[in-house]
Amino acid sequence: MGWKTLDDMDLHGKRVLVRVDINVPVEKGRVTDDTRIQRIVPTVQDILAKGGRPVLLAHFGRPKGKRVQDLSLLVVKPALEAALNRKVVLAETLEAVETGTEEITKADVLLLENIRFYPGEEKNDPGFAQRLAALGDVYCNDAFSAAHRAHASTEALARLLPCCAGRLMQAELSALEAALSKPERPVGAVVGGAKVSTKIELLENLVNRLDLLVIGGGMANTFLGAMGADLGSSLSEPDFFETAKDIMLQADKAGCRVLLPVDGLVAREFKAAAPHEVVELGPDTTLAADQMVLDAGPATVALVEAAFAGLKTLIWNGPMGAFEIPPFDTATVAAAQAAAQMTRDGALISVAGGGDTVSALNQAGAAEDFTYISTAGGAFLEWMEGKTLPGVAALGG
Ligand code: ADP
Ligand code: MG
Repeated sequence: MGWKTLDDMDLHGKRVLVRVDINVPVEKGRVTDDTRIQRIVPTVQDILAKGGRPVLLAHFGRPKGKRVQDLSLLVVKPALEAALNRKVVLAETLEAVETGTEEITKADVLLLENIRFYPGEEKNDPGFAQRLAALGDVYCNDAFSAAHRAHASTEALARLLPCCAGRLMQAELSALEAALSKPERPVGAVVGGAKVSTKIELLENLVNRLDLLVIGGGMANTFLGAMGADLGSSLSEPDFFETAKDIMLQADKAGCRVLLPVDGLVAREFKAAAPHEVVELGPDTTLAADQMVLDAGPATVALVEAAFAGLKTLIWNGPMGAFEIPPFDTATVAAAQAAAQMTRDGALISVAGGGDTVSALNQAGAAEDFTYISTAGGAFLEWMEGKTLPGVAALGG
């Protein structure tokens, strides 16, 4: 909570080094989705409005410390200029900025070439950070999605200059703090998705902080399996039965209610419109060897919706079923719409993140109504795991 925003900084006549995430998808030399570029516009505009001159620092792909021409930010420049509605000058080297050609000295918005061309970046090298710091007066980090990595442009640099969060970082940190650090209670989460094994730390952190945990998706099969159910060929991880039991125990100790599916949609094929039936689920369930649970059933959805009604804050990561193949998106869509409605009514603060989660909430038409949707991927998950993010810590967070 110790971080500053652009509102706290005097930027007049200053060069502001801004770490951004414009690592956008590109095909045949064209940006195919400019969402990440659009999201940094408010920060750049606000710096300009305050009389500052932004110098954008960004990575693109994985050049691993070498100059790789295919990974030049030149390809991103036209989309950036279109989004900002002004000219951007690409500085191909640090030397070019250090010596200051006329074009570079006069530029309103400067974009430094792919920061990962320099081996010092990913090593968080202090000397390299010093070199970057010498290019500006103020540091602004607007790349929450890169904040889980301690790199020179996300970590060391913040310690060398007066620093603040950009608008996107500010929005993300405010939303995540509201959801997990000091949430309005009762606070609950939906954790779904494929596997327990990828979300152990997340589950352990959440059960110790929340009042309610809804477990859905493939990982619910592992929990039911751990309790004794035989779920046929459902996605399940018997190697993690002990982990699942341990998480249930921790939840019990911490006073977190865990809600597992009480019924599911069961099919014999993993494909859209596969014939299916609703089956009750519990510790005594035995499915045939070729049957699999692909979604939560209607009784579970009713329980989840009733549980939501008692919450003030909801965190969501992971779909409740195989949402890519309808109708096995039914539970996810219904629960997402319930959360969206409560949020619209002002009754719920709802924060969601995760690649498939964002797709699923978009598919449900619920994303717009959520209080905040994080597109930060790995950084969002590490925050939910309770880890300190180096890029946030360096800002004073
Ligand atoms: P996120 O990307 O939001 O963190 P995950 O990657 O953990 O989410 O999980 C999403 C995946 O989980 C989806 O591909 C979905 O099909 C799969 N999934 C969810 N429930 C099931 C299930 N019952 N059986 C098989 N796959 C499932
Ligand atoms: Mg995923």
